[in-house]
Amino acid sequence: MERFIMDGFQIQIPLDELTKRLCLADEEDVELMRKKLAEALAIACPKALYRICKVNGIEDDTVQIEGKEFHSKVLAARLKDVHHVFAYVVTCGTEVDEWSRKEKDYIVNLWLDILKEMILGEARIQFQTALCERYGIPKLSSMGPGSGNLDTWPIAQQRPLFELLENVTEDTGVVLTASYLMHPTKSVSGVLFPSDKEFVTCSLCKRTNCQNRREPYKEHTDI
Ligand code: SF4
Repeated sequence: MERFIMDGFQIQIPLDELTKRLCLADEEDVELMRKKLAEALAIACPKALYRICKVNGIEDDTVQIEGKEFHSKVLAARLKDVHHVFAYVVTCGTEVDEWSRKEKDYIVNLWLDILKEMILGEARIQFQTALCERYGIPKLSSMGPGSGNLDTWPIAQQRPLFELLENVTEDTGVVLTASYLMHPTKSVSGVLFPSDKEFVTCSLCKRTNCQNRREPYKEHTDI
């Protein structure tokens, strides 16, 4: 099946959105981040790679996608009536990541980390919107290895996902480490699939104090 690279995302992050997220009140800090934001947006080149994949079969908690085997009870339940998925990686990009690593101040470094996360968030929204428009899909849901609880979709399944996508590092700069983490760390991966109602893994996740939570935890009776 075909694979595609998407870049040229138009990332716009208003300064007040950034300062609100960072809880900055001091004028000097705001001024510093105004400059950092302008620099980051000039340098950032987020990228996405995706591949349209056929779901070959589902048995218990095992899903076969283009010959690769994935083990997740939740994924198996979500893909029950799905024939194709988009396997994907989206990243803030190595350019802004390398730029941010030159920052020596510990606190500013943390702020830049959040800024990269916002860049990734914007790219991810634009990527998903572009897929919906390109393929005429009203709604897409996403799941990725390592999201949710430890057993929702084990993070080790990043390996077959990267194998499925092929040449991820060459095409996006994203490297998968031996412990299945991605570099740049502000990268996301998984599968997107059509769904009537958006499914958000956070609704299964019992982790507390997660700043990125998109939905409250709730009991699922269909998994
Ligand atoms: S609550 Fe946080 S850790 Fe849990 S799935 Fe959502 S984003 Fe991930």
